[in-house]
Amino acid sequence: MNATSQSARPATGATVQQIVVLGATGSVGVSTLNVVARHPQRFSVFALAANERTDALLQQCRQFRPRFAAMADETAAAELARQIRTEGLPTKVLAGAGALVELVTMPEVDSVMAAIVGAAGLPPTLAAARAGKKVLLANKEALVMAGRLFIDAVRTRGARLLPIDSEHNAILQSLPADFDGQLAKSGVRRILLTASGGPFLRTPLDNLARVTPDQACAHPNWVMGRKISVDSATMMNKGLEVIEACLLFNARVDQVEVVIHPQSVIHSMVEYVDGSVLAQLGHPDMRTPIAHALGFPERIESGVQSLNFFDIKTLNFEQPDVNRFPCLRLAQAAMLAGESGPVALNAANEIAVACFLRGELAFNRIPGLIEEVLTRTPATALTDLPEVLELDREVRSLASRLISARSTGAVSAN
Ligand code: NAD
Ligand code: MG
Repeated sequence: MNATSQSARPATGATVQQIVVLGATGSVGVSTLNVVARHPQRFSVFALAANERTDALLQQCRQFRPRFAAMADETAAAELARQIRTEGLPTKVLAGAGALVELVTMPEVDSVMAAIVGAAGLPPTLAAARAGKKVLLANKEALVMAGRLFIDAVRTRGARLLPIDSEHNAILQSLPADFDGQLAKSGVRRILLTASGGPFLRTPLDNLARVTPDQACAHPNWVMGRKISVDSATMMNKGLEVIEACLLFNARVDQVEVVIHPQSVIHSMVEYVDGSVLAQLGHPDMRTPIAHALGFPERIESGVQSLNFFDIKTLNFEQPDVNRFPCLRLAQAAMLAGESGPVALNAANEIAVACFLRGELAFNRIPGLIEEVLTRTPATALTDLPEVLELDREVRSLASRLISARSTGAVSAN
């Protein structure tokens, strides 16, 4: 945890990995820095980036003394620069969304932790892939939006894409080490994507009109940012993860089965043609997939305790109820609706979740809003980032207009 030890070199003479953490002040960002701090000989923090929480980023700059810190919000960046000057820290502060792209493409950078939430993370995450970096991908929205574009960039630019999402990291660990994107060749029959079911797995459906943002964010097993917590409550998170799995592992939608497993001990499974099922298990703690990806292909300490099977005793499984979780069906349909489908799904969801968190949309109206946006968005092919971002803007505006046209109260049930 000692800041000065960050610049130490490993005794073996191997080079220290220079890391950029995008979304450093968030839940995944903080867990990443927790793992990084355990391995000062392996990792050095080259840059930290966040949106607007100046105090949190300043504290991280004190501890890790990065070469650069960037804030998307320009006012916050100016304030951070002032405080960094006052304290005499060696960090240069950059401002604005463009600075994130600039940072991740710098030649000194080896690895980029993509842990910004939502579409804002797409430009720098894609830029990191296009610059051939090792991309540790937590920001699933970026992959869902850019899909093929992203995967093609990884392939053609020699980047390495390692999933941080616990399910996809578990799938990667359960696939053969030489998996080359062809499930059939590896003898894989299907992928079993586990889901906790979130906080409303047993809530009477009639009550879903009145649930509050704090209730939706009280996840039974994971402590996460508010957006992904709401996505877990609607199961749109699992819908986005179905799309993510199809893209990462070159699977068809019908090869990815969602299995509700309320304990969140099994993080996902791969079934082979001989009937074998391989799974990855562990405490629901993001430091495990983060350490797996940071150290890959070596295993490194994460600070996560051993799993105690005598305490766990039972593991349960059930099929998702499509009436309770319509977002799952919407995501599967969007995946089949060309490149524009996932972009529209994600943009409508981001607007709906933001409105729900502000108390402007009832929880049970989130799926209906997304479905209406999908119906109104024609299927189109998207060939580059500007087209993706343009459609994202149009869909956000449509979703906002639909919400204000209905001017729904957060407590309205219809
Ligand atoms: P969070 O809300 O806790 O943190 C988000 C981070 O992104 C913050 O550092 C914030 O400053 C930064 N950010 C937000 N908007 C930004 C912008 N416009 N420009 C630059 N930075 C911006 O979110 P989280 O829970 O850490 O999730 C981050 C990503 O990881 C999400 O895509 C989520 O789906 C994914 N993920 C999270 C978990 C988890 O356990 N938290 C698990 C799997 C996947
Ligand atoms: Mg997940």
